[in-house]
Amino acid sequence: MQTELYFDPTLLGKYNTSGPRYTSYPTALEFHDQFTAIDLASAIENSKNNSLSLYVHIPFCHSLCYYCGCNKVVTRQRDKADIYLDYLVKELKAKASLFKKYHVKQLHLGGGTPSFLTKNQLSFLVYHLKKAFSFLTDIEMSIEIDPREIDLDLIDHLYELGFNRLSIGVQDVDGKVQEAINRTQSTDFIASIITRAKQLGFRSVNVDLIYGLPHQSTETFSKTIDKVYEMNVDRISLFSYAHLPSRFAAQRKLRDEWLPNAQEKFALMKLAIERLCQYGYEFIGMDHFAKPDDELAIAQRKGTLHRNFQGYTTQGNSDLLGLGVSSISAIGECYSQNEKELKQYYRAIDVQGQAITKGLTLTQDDIIRGQVIKSLMCNMHIDKAAIENQFSICFDQYFADELATLTCFINDGLLTMSSQYITVDQRARLLIRIIAMSFDAYMKQHVNQQRFSRVI
Ligand code: SF4
Repeated sequence: MQTELYFDPTLLGKYNTSGPRYTSYPTALEFHDQFTAIDLASAIENSKNNSLSLYVHIPFCHSLCYYCGCNKVVTRQRDKADIYLDYLVKELKAKASLFKKYHVKQLHLGGGTPSFLTKNQLSFLVYHLKKAFSFLTDIEMSIEIDPREIDLDLIDHLYELGFNRLSIGVQDVDGKVQEAINRTQSTDFIASIITRAKQLGFRSVNVDLIYGLPHQSTETFSKTIDKVYEMNVDRISLFSYAHLPSRFAAQRKLRDEWLPNAQEKFALMKLAIERLCQYGYEFIGMDHFAKPDDELAIAQRKGTLHRNFQGYTTQGNSDLLGLGVSSISAIGECYSQNEKELKQYYRAIDVQGQAITKGLTLTQDDIIRGQVIKSLMCNMHIDKAAIENQFSICFDQYFADELATLTCFINDGLLTMSSQYITVDQRARLLIRIIAMSFDAYMKQHVNQQRFSRVI
């Protein structure tokens, strides 16, 4: 793959606007508080799926990373997690009774910091999940790891519990960058975690990297990329740092003059993409990289890549049940979200036995557009005939207005359109969500797109 195709500075400059990352369509901004547990129960009943992905949110972190925009609770008191786990178990038991026809194919622990939990707490959680739900024997079990404040034998413990995938928050290995973002961690220890995971038989190790952080330069960031390559990781998620200090108080600690300017940030992104592709990783979607033999790369080649609230995934044909504070579910034809604040989450579980605060039942139009947007985000093309067959519509008529808005992309050589396909050129890979926005019926209501991050 010729990576220079991705970086036409004129096109990237022209289309580098803000847009949703489309981990769902409609996006979470459209969820409303009229949605209730009764709506969810009816979605479960009507869902044609009988396989399930579980997402469990662990909100606690030991310390605050200054770039963070996640929903988390920073505390040193590990016993807070005992209280949380008791509530989580109440919630999962109540929900499991609704999911008796399902088999669990995938479990992901995210946060916050799931590795905030002690070994005993992790065992307790997995025990109750396995007891309440029917787990398939070849289940994918993954967990996000903060490489600070853990011992190496936690990896052994996770393996014994059945985990077979790890995701590690690395971000950058440079000391000055780490100090500025308040996330100092040992690169040698991260390497030991990965080596140990591979010795034990973990099937895939992912690391997260971020470009656009304070003090990053192409020199420092190229060392980060090289280190990650040496560590032999299977997948890399490469995220752009979105500096929104008015929304995230922690980011006010990051002084503007420390941050790379737009040109420098572009150079960081370009360096990372070029280097990772040189090292043999395949570019997945708009921000992931995977070794050619990793399931994510295989799925992209086969056209079976999917996208959900955790990003790109191979598990598209499962319903997704989110458990814990702020977690999101996608069941049949609805989305729902739990209370975002811990106190409200506890109160809701105490009073109602569940903590749904908002959601959305999809209309037929949402479903059709969601399928089109997912196809763009995952496959970089739309098979118009397949959409027509699936939904009994005439694509060109149904999307007449949207097709008219694609003219600028066609004129810039970013798209080609035939009677059967809309195909996105590799030069638009980084702009894919901007193209997808053309099919988003809610976008007109979001004139102020500051609620979304920029492409670069
Ligand atoms: S980046 Fe991760 S570990 Fe750091 S504060 Fe945010 S959620 Fe916690």
